[in-house]
Amino acid sequence: MYTRIITIDGPAGAGKTTVSKLLAQKLGCIYVDTGALYRGVAFEILQQKINWEDDPVLEGFLKTLDLNFIMEANHLVLMSSGRDISGYIRTPEISMLASSSSAKPQVRSALLDIQRHIARTKDAVFEGRDMGTVVFPNASHKFFLYADLAIRAKRRFDEMPEKAKDLSRVQKEMEIRDNNDSKRITAPLKPAKDAVEIDSTFLTAEEVVEKMLGYIEKA
Ligand code: C5P
Repeated sequence: MYTRIITIDGPAGAGKTTVSKLLAQKLGCIYVDTGALYRGVAFEILQQKINWEDDPVLEGFLKTLDLNFIMEANHLVLMSSGRDISGYIRTPEISMLASSSSAKPQVRSALLDIQRHIARTKDAVFEGRDMGTVVFPNASHKFFLYADLAIRAKRRFDEMPEKAKDLSRVQKEMEIRDNNDSKRITAPLKPAKDAVEIDSTFLTAEEVVEKMLGYIEKA
């Protein structure tokens, strides 16, 4: 069965989530945040105190991992071994651990099937780092969204709860994550050759979506 897959890749804080949700809404399809899966891995590593840098230990852990998305109303909820963990995966600690552990090829291949399985039956907008390059090389439309680091950090800072606010820390951690994600050997963050690149530094989410719709409708 043929489904329409749209990929949106880019660094942290470029606006991928807001834009992907909005675009999916306009197109009447689902939206999949693949970063949540990598965050789910990091969450379980922390919970189970896994020494993930030790390959045999990591491989044993991945065999027992049971992550998947379930559809609730019109959005997807991340489940780990039957438990909704979506409320626990957005901490700075999990962001950093997701970024370092996602460089492991074993982690990436363990999550590949989950992502491709969703795409088999549903039209979707997939957001991540390697959607257009590795997971869906034949996607119908590919976008790469980026913005200046200072603007990305400020956007993330504005979304944070009052007590956790520290702009320079947000920016520093974002820079480290971007660096990890772009320099890793397996599935590094980079635009696919056939991706449309959009700089969102001076654009609102609505303006980015309008641009994307322009490309999609033209095709
Ligand atoms: O998108 P988000 O910031 O939630 O992703 C958390 C981390 O998961 C990223 O910094 C990146 O290291 C990893 N990730 C990835 N590939 C994806 C999505 C996320 O490596 N497709």
